[in-house]
Amino acid sequence: MFNGKALISMPFPLTPPAMTKILPDDLTHGFATRAVHAGQFADPTSGAVMTPIYQTSTYCQDGLGKHKGYEYGRTQNPTREALERNVAALEGGTHGLAFGSGLAALDAILKLFKTGDHIVSGESVYGGSMRLMKRIFEPYGLGLTFVDSRDVRNFERAITKQTRLVFCETPTNPMMFLTDLRAVGDLTTSRGILFGVDNTFATPYFQRPLSMGADIVLHSTTKYLNGHSDMVGGMLVTSRDDVAERLGFIQNASGAVPGPMDCFLALRGTKTLPLRMQRHDANGRRIADWLTTHKRVKKLYYPGLTSHPQHELAKTQMSGFGGMVSFDTGDVALAQRILERLKIFQLAESLGGVESLVGHPASMTHAAVPKEIRDDMGLTDSLIRLSCGIEDVEDLIEDLDQAMG
Ligand SMILES: *Cc1c(COP(=O)(O)O)cnc(C)c1O
Repeated sequence: MFNGKALISMPFPLTPPAMTKILPDDLTHGFATRAVHAGQFADPTSGAVMTPIYQTSTYCQDGLGKHKGYEYGRTQNPTREALERNVAALEGGTHGLAFGSGLAALDAILKLFKTGDHIVSGESVYGGSMRLMKRIFEPYGLGLTFVDSRDVRNFERAITKQTRLVFCETPTNPMMFLTDLRAVGDLTTSRGILFGVDNTFATPYFQRPLSMGADIVLHSTTKYLNGHSDMVGGMLVTSRDDVAERLGFIQNASGAVPGPMDCFLALRGTKTLPLRMQRHDANGRRIADWLTTHKRVKKLYYPGLTSHPQHELAKTQMSGFGGMVSFDTGDVALAQRILERLKIFQLAESLGGVESLVGHPASMTHAAVPKEIRDDMGLTDSLIRLSCGIEDVEDLIEDLDQAMG
């Protein structure tokens, strides 16, 4: 059984996560105040208000074993720790751990387990997450079962004596399927199984999985948390000291840490997360509403629409629906024309930046998924995915209008 004891009795020297643990004060304020201030303090050497980029690999020691808590850049970095405390406070967790990418963060979660352990994961997770689990960890002997994450009973049926982790994403990319976080949280808590949630799409501004029973929250900070499409990074947040301790050990031992400059950029991003998310959400809703009335649109996927099959669930676990909107005209040639004609929406991978992007999941993010499986979940060759940015929504709608005309 994966539990606190098993983790703590690991016979390795552990990196104390003390530096990344947030202060009780960090959780007492509202979200926007936390975004700006949580985990931040004026720099001790100069009083600099903004956390400096500590671009150093090592730290001078006063004598043998006498130092300021910083020994080597992989193990500790003040810029990284400022980011870790900040994101932890936003998710309502006590420990944050930053990684070189979202997938490096998932890699660290998967290294909590050993050969023979079993994981149940939602089947429509990010393609790279699926690849990491199947192509790297399954050959090492980790058991995997992928289930339709829209129904908690699918997770329940897939759990075995060896199951150590249930993992999911909600909403999913690009079909906007939701997982009932409280139901899965109750299930995993009652079975003593860890529950990990990729919260990249919703962000803590709209959804806080730790408050609904999750043990670990994962982010690709590359997306909304940084929000400016100028770095790649990942983050894990937990409130469990045992899990944090083990993840901290893996972070240092495997070494997939982000550089100080990227941490600085992500930290600059999180300060404006509430403002950006409000605008992404407002633009997403307006664009989804506009698409509802468009004669070429056959199907529309946005959890904020009352027509979304899980809209009621969305309202209970999300406080907003964000800027990701997928739609289907049922016409592959038209989809191609739209992708090529859009001017403000740029054709590109990724999402969550201030600029609007458009993608073609069947040939871009989900090209590796067999066509039958894609068609099964509604991910057709004519499906288009929008990441609505923070531009003037009238301009975005006008751009869509000219491209779809
Ligand atoms: C992009 C993404 C990832 C992977 O993150 P990287 O930073 O690209 O490694 C994981 N999950 C979701 C939902 C993503 O969108």
